[in-house]
Amino acid sequence: MYHSDYIGLYVHIPFCKDRCNYCDFVSYTDFSLVEDYFESLLKEITIWSQYVGKVSLNSIYVGGGTPSDIPLKYLEKTFDTISKSFNLCDPEITVEINPKFRYFYELRNLGVNRISMGLQAADDTVLKAVNRRHSVSEFRETCREAMNYFENINIDFIIGLPFESEQTIWNNLKVINEYNPKHVSVYILESKQEFLDQDTLADHHESFISALLENGYERYEISNFAYPGYRCKHNLKYWNNEDYIGIGVSAGGHIGLKRYVNSSNILLYMECLKNGKFAFEYFKENSPLDELKETLFMGLRLSNGIKIDKLMQLSPELKIDELTSILNGYLIYDQESLRLSSTGKDFSKFVLSKIIDENILLHVIGR
Ligand code: SF4
Repeated sequence: MYHSDYIGLYVHIPFCKDRCNYCDFVSYTDFSLVEDYFESLLKEITIWSQYVGKVSLNSIYVGGGTPSDIPLKYLEKTFDTISKSFNLCDPEITVEINPKFRYFYELRNLGVNRISMGLQAADDTVLKAVNRRHSVSEFRETCREAMNYFENINIDFIIGLPFESEQTIWNNLKVINEYNPKHVSVYILESKQEFLDQDTLADHHESFISALLENGYERYEISNFAYPGYRCKHNLKYWNNEDYIGIGVSAGGHIGLKRYVNSSNILLYMECLKNGKFAFEYFKENSPLDELKETLFMGLRLSNGIKIDKLMQLSPELKIDELTSILNGYLIYDQESLRLSSTGKDFSKFVLSKIIDENILLHVIGR
């Protein structure tokens, strides 16, 4: 029934002490809801474990929001409920933290073994402009402290923020050279308002990425870079379209053929859980075509692409040569895998939008 023997668990903590002005994530600044929210969250873990049984987890990712903005006792209770409800199989456990956080010792004692920190830009002018709550020097202090307790650290960056200059990119690289995090994520700002012209944005992105590659990072996904052996196991489940349960407001999951997204309304979410019910805003039993579409859409983001065996298993009628000729020059394949060509990587948005076009998919599976 499941895609693999192990399942991932995502936990959404939707609270931030302040809001960054570019952010689209579901998060609230009203901390009076925290107590009730966690009551619902723990209930949701229990309901899921009743629904799927005591399945084996090998990755847990606590994101948000800002999980480190809430008192640690809530994370403690959450991990306690998770470990009672599921089999933990040496899981990668990531927690996103704010660059002012100090309780690394306590976090490690909870079993956390991976930290993700959002710096976004090593430039105080940029950080101020987007209402981040920390300075570059506060980030540095926290990063130094984190490295005393954690080996596996990710730093997030965003390219295209207001007031970003070439110097910002050099500063970003200076931070990376100094701390050598095992994993780096580089996103391009998705916003209606553009702060840089397209050529400058492309130059900044290109120079950042080339320097990361020169420093020995592998670009294993369009926006993600890691030293060998440090790819994010949890996020790989998304890109490989494997099984994961998402809990919390706005969290989504894919378990067997079931695809769902929870309500983004925290009050509605808590109301459903209070009544012992899931809080789905979207729920679908995927058809084989849906599974193929999702597998292509997510898997082509990976530099290794998608295993041909897996595609054939999902859709024995799939004509891969036909698909690559429709997207001529953008896709390559061999006996092992189907993946983006280097031009395909430059135009990944276009390729991915085409790949979910049902007319194209129906054509390449001969219907
Ligand atoms: S801290 Fe993260 S989740 Fe919170 S507002 Fe900023 S970007 Fe969004």
